[in-house]
Amino acid sequence: MKTVALVVPCFNEADVLNMFYDETMKVIDSLRDEYMTELVFVDDGSRDDTLKILKELASRNHAVKFISFSRNFGKEAAMLAGMEYAVKADFIGILDADLQHSPDIIPEMLRFVDKEGYDVAAANREDREGEAKFKSFLSESFYKVINKVSETKITESAQDFRIMRKDVVKAIISMPENIRFSKGIFSWVGFNVKWIGHTNRERAAGETKWSIMKLAKYAIDGILSFTVTPLRLSFVFAVICAVMSFGSLIYAVIRNIITPEYTAVVPYVLTGMFFIAFLLLLVTGIIGEYLARVYTEAKGRPKYIVSQTNTQVVYSFSEDD
Ligand code: UDP
Ligand code: MG
Repeated sequence: MKTVALVVPCFNEADVLNMFYDETMKVIDSLRDEYMTELVFVDDGSRDDTLKILKELASRNHAVKFISFSRNFGKEAAMLAGMEYAVKADFIGILDADLQHSPDIIPEMLRFVDKEGYDVAAANREDREGEAKFKSFLSESFYKVINKVSETKITESAQDFRIMRKDVVKAIISMPENIRFSKGIFSWVGFNVKWIGHTNRERAAGETKWSIMKLAKYAIDGILSFTVTPLRLSFVFAVICAVMSFGSLIYAVIRNIITPEYTAVVPYVLTGMFFIAFLLLLVTGIIGEYLARVYTEAKGRPKYIVSQTNTQVVYSFSEDD
């Protein structure tokens, strides 16, 4: 029988966990003939009764696994821990504990990855019902910026709610970076994705764990993890300074030709100033280019990811030498 593991990051979700469990178990039971499903809860350092409830569920049902963090490490870390455990299953899913991600579409997602040849079936948010206007505006602006400056395209409406084949999860957990921005990682690893329209439900109970500060940090992580473009700003400023330097020189020379008695030194001083600024920024930009390379190398991402092959393509040092 094929196996499925559903990863559920939980941070202070005691109010909603039992509801989540009941609703998700209904879906899991309906799939029982074809799939053996585990629920992998990751308690991300909750300070309420989340862990207590998880232990209780686990004692009732051995398909419930839990991993409890020593403190709050954030949803990204929780998803990673869940995936690292769950990668032994054939299909791995991720969904929020608050029932905003409707478990009802899990069978449809499974059909796409198991029967229709897709590697990933992911939810695509259809509208932003129940989200504050200001938050939507910030979020839209963020995705506009990141898609302008980064080579990895990130769909604004793409959600973490998804089911993936084992190979996809292997690729995701093979990315060793510490600062993780899953929306970017999901897109970076590629594969054949089936998008499924999904409208987020209202949170069943409890409240959102994302403060404006947490979201701002998340946005900055996203941009810094997937682009080195900000490091290139120096070059833009260098060009501006070069133009200013040249401009003030031309101005001074022409002034001198037209009115030979003109003796002001300010334009020449400006020329020199802008020229020195240009040189400094140029050097800063060059350092930035090296830094960008160091940064890219330091992330240690795989150089490629194979989706299918009929041979062994991975060269391993450890086997023969
Ligand atoms: N979450 C987590 N760690 C955190 C913040 C959130 O594991 O530091 C979990 C949370 O329990 C929920 C999911 O991530 O299952 C999404 O969080 P939330 O519903 O608060 O976010 P929103 O839906 O408002 O974007
Ligand atoms: Mg939520």
